[in-house]
Amino acid sequence: MAKLPAYLRRDIRLLDVHSHSGFEPLLYLTHGFPFCQSLRNSFEDNERSGITHAVVFPLCTSLYYDLPAMQRGKIKLERRIGTAPFAFENEHLLRQIYEIFPDYKRMFMPFMMLDTAREAKKQVRALSSLLDRFRFYGLKVHPRTTQAAVSTLGGPGRPLLDFARANDLPILFHSAYPGSPDRLSQISQILDLARAYPGLRFCAAHFCGFHQKTFEEAARYDNVWVDSGAMSIGCDVVVQKLKIYEAGPAKIPGDYRDPPAVFAEIARRFPDTFMWGTDNPAHTWVSSSPAKPGGKPQRVELWSSMDREKRLLRDVSGALRRKVAFENALDFLEG
Ligand SMILES: [Zn+2]
Repeated sequence: MAKLPAYLRRDIRLLDVHSHSGFEPLLYLTHGFPFCQSLRNSFEDNERSGITHAVVFPLCTSLYYDLPAMQRGKIKLERRIGTAPFAFENEHLLRQIYEIFPDYKRMFMPFMMLDTAREAKKQVRALSSLLDRFRFYGLKVHPRTTQAAVSTLGGPGRPLLDFARANDLPILFHSAYPGSPDRLSQISQILDLARAYPGLRFCAAHFCGFHQKTFEEAARYDNVWVDSGAMSIGCDVVVQKLKIYEAGPAKIPGDYRDPPAVFAEIARRFPDTFMWGTDNPAHTWVSSSPAKPGGKPQRVELWSSMDREKRLLRDVSGALRRKVAFENALDFLEG
């Protein structure tokens, strides 16, 4: 599966390695934003911004879960929609691309969402039957929203890991830096997996939370990449000293009031590891949900746009721009 088909390989100039399409019940049920994104919106956003290609995955919770429990901040299986966690959402995304908007298949590289802690064998059955019908190019895991630690992929999630290996599918994890209250998405556990499975490729999303040591460590692995998903509001968070990303002396030095300058500094220091991605539509984030399951609701209101995410590339040019704009992403996708 590692090689992209010719129709996707053509004219790649700017590849967004982190974007979502679909419906997000968790944010909808807690009056958060954004809670949905249609593939047509993504396509038009991308055309307007000069993004030629995009990795796209569903949003991060599943209608297979119990909705009232989810509204109270707890993930529990209800099993009425779909045959496994994310089976419905994954099929929905693939049918949007290949049946409703077939012209879009030249732009989008779909990844399938996983729940690494629950019903892995059922998920593998659902994914295998989707793979018989449609092409997809990787897998996405959101440990915080699924309430499943990264390490569960090597435990109860093992059948999913074997599926990834058998089909040579890279895995992109939502991830958190060591000081984050999110203990489920720790990058150290992604690096444990990368060491244990050198034949698999991993992406730790969200710029290592700007934590310098963690980024340096991730960059030492040949099979680990790091993306810039939602980095503009990431810089806002540092300026506002919200405890979401590293804001103290352990952060990568830079002027965080100027996100493109921070982006360029990271690109310069980690030219083979860093990949540009927007997190569309979650480059903007308004939420009242707790930072950790069962915790106190945390009000966060952070705004960005595709223009602002594209502006992150302002200070990178030439060979380095090509690397962060698409070449590193192609290495991650194809190996
Ligand atoms: Zn995301």
